[in-house]
Amino acid sequence: MAATLKTDVLIVGAGPTGLALAIQLIRYGIDFVIVDKKEGTTPYSKAIGVQARTLEIYQQIDLADRLIDMGLPAQGVRLLEGGEQRAEVSLANLGQGKSPYPFLLIVEQGQHERLLYEFIKSHGQDVRWQTTFGGFSQNDAAVAGTIVNVNGEEQRIEAKYLVACDGPKSGIRHHLGLTFEGSTLERLFYVADVQIKWAFPHDMLTACLAKDQSTAFFPMPGEDRYRIVGVFPEDTEKKEGEIPYEEIKRQILGDSQVDLDIYQVNWFSTYKVHSRRVNKFSEGRCFLAGDAAHIHSPAGAQGMNTGIQDGYNLAWKLALVLRGEADPRLLETYNEERVEIAKRLLETTDRMFDLLVNPAWLLSFIRRNIFPHVANFLVGLDSVNQFIFPLISQTGITYRDRSLSKNGDTEFEVKAGDRMPYLLVDGKGVYDWLHAPKFHLVTFSNEAEPDQATSAGVESEFGGLIDQQAFPINEQVSEIFGMDKPFHILLRPDNYIGFVSAEAPLPELQSYFRRFA
Ligand SMILES: Cc1cc2nc3c(=O)[nH]c(=O)nc-3n(C[C@H](O)[C@H](O)[C@H](O)COP(=O)(O)OP(=O)(O)OC[C@H]3O[C@@H](n4cnc5c(N)ncnc54)[C@H](O)[C@@H]3O)c2cc1C
Repeated sequence: MAATLKTDVLIVGAGPTGLALAIQLIRYGIDFVIVDKKEGTTPYSKAIGVQARTLEIYQQIDLADRLIDMGLPAQGVRLLEGGEQRAEVSLANLGQGKSPYPFLLIVEQGQHERLLYEFIKSHGQDVRWQTTFGGFSQNDAAVAGTIVNVNGEEQRIEAKYLVACDGPKSGIRHHLGLTFEGSTLERLFYVADVQIKWAFPHDMLTACLAKDQSTAFFPMPGEDRYRIVGVFPEDTEKKEGEIPYEEIKRQILGDSQVDLDIYQVNWFSTYKVHSRRVNKFSEGRCFLAGDAAHIHSPAGAQGMNTGIQDGYNLAWKLALVLRGEADPRLLETYNEERVEIAKRLLETTDRMFDLLVNPAWLLSFIRRNIFPHVANFLVGLDSVNQFIFPLISQTGITYRDRSLSKNGDTEFEVKAGDRMPYLLVDGKGVYDWLHAPKFHLVTFSNEAEPDQATSAGVESEFGGLIDQQAFPINEQVSEIFGMDKPFHILLRPDNYIGFVSAEAPLPELQSYFRRFA
């Protein structure tokens, strides 16, 4: 057997979660090994919805614009009943003013994964493909296990930390004895990536609503390309994978009642929807992320995006601990923060899913409120912008009241634990100023002279950890924060607020970092 391979972080699984985590570790200069039993990135379109929060994360590594160039921003939703258009909801710039990316981006998972993989390779690293991670054990110092390559050659691997990004059937989760409680829906779903000719422009999500099911057509980049998602009737006896495409096609044509010609089928699949999550995101030196920790209905396009954010939450904590800049108890906050997100995620996606399979109330709403007026109706979007965009785009995720969020900010509209709200600073988006993989102490003030003594004090005590920025208080800042006097915020490396305070920053920082440094 070859010599033991030693690394700081072993990532098992190079789906979107593992790849995105590897990228974050590259950003922090952390040594890692990533393995996957597959031959390469997925050739399938799978997750097509990329949320604003994911793009904000990618902006820090200059990948957001490249991903946007590969995709299509979702322009809106067209609602059909009995093959006739009943309403149109514009989604263009859905979250205007709330994110530099105020839309849902449609791009296929295969292309998305390839972009992440290219980033990894361009930074001198690679995924060990066709390499399977097997039985392992852990002690106070390390996790040790075996990897087996395509030729059947075994190698011992030892890592200070292990991150299981090994998908819904996670062997690591089983081995750790963590539970994966939840439910599996009875009804069988289908998904088909196709090319079609029909009367509608290739711009919007088209939802065909009927009494007890709906069929959705998502426009995808490429001529006439659509992702079709629908559901088989309750009495369908066949199982996942047993249904031929011809049956799916019959279902699509019957349910949608639209005149269409499906002239090319690129991929199709049938599946049961599970809604499950792990009871704990970590056990000793092992962490779970992505589908290994939570699975749910694809309604709302949340799964892949949540996995990417799991990794984003974990990476900076691992980096600080591995560099000796934080106590290992910082790592406990990963479970504390992400397990709650997974819990809420399942509740939200279950509700969205009910809407998809049971559109009766939506139809009755449309009949009562829209049909009597006009056939094409642009629904007012204030409420969508206010409540739905933060929920769906994952920009509204907050870690309020968790141990890394220092309370005492009652006079501010924005609280510790919230994501740094999007605003403009000198004509540029605020995140453009926050790329460094560090904490950021941001001082909002209109004073002509900066407080040199405080800056010097922060630099001498926390220079390696904290980057300092000074931004003016303009109308937008006072409106968002509810404050027009000078104040400071400490942003964690993932741009969540550690504290917001009008007090002198040095004692606040000392008390904040005592929590884990
Ligand atoms: C039809 C469909 C539509 C979807 N739409 C969306 C959407 O629009 N938006 C969204 O956010 N999500 C969506 N999802 C969900 C999304 O695809 C998943 O959440 C995402 O793929 C999870 O990524 P992951 O990296 O956590 O797991 P996976 O993609 O499952 O990757 C796990 C990897 O681990 C590897 N592996 C497993 N065990 C081992 C081992 N022992 N050794 C080595 N390697 C191992 C596997 O080979 C695999 O490559 C959709 C899913 C489907 C099926």
